[in-house]
Amino acid sequence: MSCDFFALATAGVQGLQPYQPGKPIEELEREYGIQNIIKLASNENPLGTNPLIISELQSSLKQLFRYPDGNGFTLKQALAQKLVVSADMITLGNGSNDILELIARTFVTAENSVIFSQYAFAIYPLVTQAMGAKSLEIPAIEWGHDLTAMQTAVRDDTRVIFIANPNNPTGTWVNHTQLQTFLAAIPEDKIVVLDEAYFEYVEDTSYPNSLVLLEKYPNLIITRTFSKAYGLAGLRVGYAISHPKIANLLNRIRQPFNVNLLALAAATIALNDRHYLEKSVIANRWGMQQLIDAFQSMNLAFIPSVGNFITVQLPSTGLIIYEKLLLEGIIVRPLANYQMPYHLRVTIGTQEENARFIQALQKVISTTS
Ligand SMILES: *Cc1c(COP(=O)(O)O)cnc(C)c1O
Repeated sequence: MSCDFFALATAGVQGLQPYQPGKPIEELEREYGIQNIIKLASNENPLGTNPLIISELQSSLKQLFRYPDGNGFTLKQALAQKLVVSADMITLGNGSNDILELIARTFVTAENSVIFSQYAFAIYPLVTQAMGAKSLEIPAIEWGHDLTAMQTAVRDDTRVIFIANPNNPTGTWVNHTQLQTFLAAIPEDKIVVLDEAYFEYVEDTSYPNSLVLLEKYPNLIITRTFSKAYGLAGLRVGYAISHPKIANLLNRIRQPFNVNLLALAAATIALNDRHYLEKSVIANRWGMQQLIDAFQSMNLAFIPSVGNFITVQLPSTGLIIYEKLLLEGIIVRPLANYQMPYHLRVTIGTQEENARFIQALQKVISTTS
C-alpha cells in the first residue's frame, strides 16, 4: 500500500486520540478466563434494565423493519411535558455524546477556540480536536471547574464553553449562584454547554435549576441523557434543551434518523416511570455512603461526588491497582488519560458489588507496595 491515507485526513482528525471506554466484561472474560465479573467502570445503572421497558418494548420489536420517527415526536412531547418547555427547544441525540459533537460541528471551525476545565469529560477535547479548533483547558480548583478562570479565558475566537455539572470523572459540581454569576459575565455570542448527564442523582438543593437560567440566557444549551439514571446506556439516547433557534441549527446537522426506533420507544417509557428512577437515586445514595465509609476506614482520600461514581486516590499508581483488580474480576476506570495517575474512578454498584469491590481493593492494596 503506497497511499499515505493519514496525510489525506483533516488536520483535526490527524491529531485525534480516540476515546478510551471502560473495559467490557466480555473482553476480561476472554483475556483472563475470569467469571463472575463486575463492571464498575462506565457509570452504568447497577439496577440493570428496567423490567417495564423489556416488557413494553415487545411491540416496538415488531416495527423494526420501519424507519424510526426522524423527528422523535412522541419522546419530544413527553420531554416537553415533563420539563415544562416547548418541544421546539429539544434536540434528540444518539446519546448526549452525539449532541456534544453536533454542537461542535454547528458552531466551531478551525479558526475558533473552545473552553473546558482540566479533568473535564474527555469528549470535550475530542470534539474540539475533531474540528481542528483550539482547546483552552483551564486549570481546575480542587479537581473542579474554576468558573472565574474560565470566564477570564474567553477570547474573541471562542465559540463554545463546556461545563460538566457534575463533572465526570471527578464528581465535582457548581451551584446555582456560581453558574448564574458565570452566565451573566459571558458574552451572548459564546455558547455555554451545560452537560447534566448525572443531574437526576444530585440531591443538594443548591444544585442549579438550569431550566430557569435558560429563560434568561439564550446562549445556554443543557444536555442530558438516558444512559445513567434511566439505565439505557446501550440504546444511546440523549437530548439537549436550548433556545428554539439553537435547536433548529442542531437539527439541521444531525442525521435524519440519529435516534433509533427502540431507543425512542424505551426512552419514552422510561420517562414516564418514576419508580425505577427513584430506586436508582436511593440505591446510589446508599452505595455512595458504603464506598465513602470504606475509603475512610482505609484512609484513602477521595473526591466528594454528587454523581453515580466516586474517584479515589491510591497509595500506588492507579494502573497497577486497576490491573490487580481485574484479576479479582472487578473492572473500574483508571484515570491516567486524565493526568490523574493515582486515582481510580468507581461507579456506585449494588450493595453486593460495592462490598466485593471494597474487599478486593483491601486485598490488592495490602499486597501492593
Ligand atoms: C456519561 C456521560 C455523558 C453521557 O453520554 P451518553 O452519550 O449520553 O451515553 C455525557 N456527559 C458526561 C460528563 C458523562 O459522564
